[in-house]
Amino acid sequence: MKTVKVSVVTPDGPVYEADVEMVVTRAQSGELGILPGHIPMVAPLQIGVVRMKKATNTELVAVSGGFLEVRPDQVTILAQTAETAEQIDARRAEEAKQRAEQRLQAKQDDVDFRRAELSLKRAINRLNVTQNKY
Ligand code: ATP
Repeated sequence: MKTVKVSVVTPDGPVYEADVEMVVTRAQSGELGILPGHIPMVAPLQIGVVRMKKATNTELVAVSGGFLEVRPDQVTILAQTAETAEQIDARRAEEAKQRAEQRLQAKQDDVDFRRAELSLKRAINRLNVTQNKY
């Protein structure tokens, strides 16, 4: 099976690099599966799970938006934050989820709902990756 090199990079540095058979992400336009030799493209990403399909297993990376750049032999994901399943502190994500839920339920004028919603999405996304859900 052919493979394509995939790198996930954040402002803090590289997070993941591997040769994979397919990369599956959720772009703003919907789910996107990238195989080796894919035509060049750039797409914005949502907060979501990136699935790296290898011959015998699939590895998951949580990303909080960013951009996907595809070249025939290389896929690059530039994300504000990204973590592999092993890097995620599930307890921290659970606490972040609870904080965000409390803010969203508070019905106070000084709550920035958009910010709390995004925080909740990031936390749920991280928990999904630790539970192998996508
Ligand atoms: P928190 O409120 O727990 O900080 P957050 O969603 O506000 O969560 P971010 O601003 O998205 O956090 O990320 C800040 C940094 O912390 C990034 O480097 C990110 O990779 C890392 N990070 C955030 N949550 C976790 C987690 N649960 N486990 C491991 N690293 C995390």
